[in-house]
Amino acid sequence: MRVSALPMFWACPSSALDCEHPYSPESDAAALGTAVHKALQMMINEASPDPSLSVIAVEHDVDLEELSRLYDIGRDAWTNLRLHAGLDAEVHSELRLEGEAFSGTADIVLVGQDEIVVIDWKSGRLRGDAETQVMGYLDLARKRFGPRPSYRGIVMWLQFGDIEAHDYEDENLDAFEETYARKLENIGKAYAPGVACRYCRRQLECSARREFMQATALAIAEPTCKKLFTPDLLAALYDRAKMLEKCLDQFKDAVSLHVQENGGLDLPNGKRIVERHYQREQYDPRTTWQVLTQQHGFTQEDMAQVLSVGTTAIKRIIGAKTDKGQKVEKQAQALQDIRDANGARTISYSKLIQVKGSNS
Ligand code: SF4
Repeated sequence: MRVSALPMFWACPSSALDCEHPYSPESDAAALGTAVHKALQMMINEASPDPSLSVIAVEHDVDLEELSRLYDIGRDAWTNLRLHAGLDAEVHSELRLEGEAFSGTADIVLVGQDEIVVIDWKSGRLRGDAETQVMGYLDLARKRFGPRPSYRGIVMWLQFGDIEAHDYEDENLDAFEETYARKLENIGKAYAPGVACRYCRRQLECSARREFMQATALAIAEPTCKKLFTPDLLAALYDRAKMLEKCLDQFKDAVSLHVQENGGLDLPNGKRIVERHYQREQYDPRTTWQVLTQQHGFTQEDMAQVLSVGTTAIKRIIGAKTDKGQKVEKQAQALQDIRDANGARTISYSKLIQVKGSNS
């Protein structure tokens, strides 16, 4: 078993069963993750302290701006984490660790006299159980380099700029091995359909998942008006509804693909789904500015209503003009200068997010 599969195995032991049609979609997020890992690995291996991000972005077909942002966060975090571990610690990057039960490649392993530290870069936008994975790497590293008084697992969430740290001793890793052995006995006996199914390679042929999704669809469709959703029902169905939403998105993508490839899709009601093409003009800001001010008498105030300024574009331009290591500071300074000149206004909006803890 791969160490990266351990979180899913922890959530649902039967995810380790073999299957005939493994689900393994290619995704943009996976390409970005590979590109970020490569850039950070090159930075950590002294041979390439300054990787060419534009080359890596082209190689992996990912957005250079996003790659640069995640790389900068990872590099700054690495500088601090390296100091914490002590300069005498051995640094192993992309270290293959083999075990009898599970194996994997750890992003970074720092081996000191008194501590082993494992660092795992995460570039995804969804946070999940990463602790099981770093414990797996620490357990393998302990066997490879010998026991230490303490072990530290660090998950670097690059999208959020957050560091999640876990400290362990030998007894914690021993308990981890015991839990692993217990879960092995549940393969084929215990199924836990839920968020773990999202990345499970068995999802195309798992009857437990199918029944779970059918039950979710029924539970959501059953109440005939929103007042019938009690708080308990809303809470119980929230994550499940998200899973169903993802299935609906996949269904809509499949419809679009079919229509594009076949020119349309006939519906049982006698109608047909077709694709219509529309055009919308975009205006070059410099030409627009010139024409409207010189030929149509637009004032600066009029132009301010016509043009909009975006944070992302400002950051991108400053990032392109600034040396590495100073980008974040210069970007923040430019935005602060605009605020100080009364050039910013705050627009409030709300969206639903999940946070830790309960109100009760
Ligand atoms: S699809 Fe879901 S329920 Fe089925 S084995 Fe995978 S994680 Fe478990």
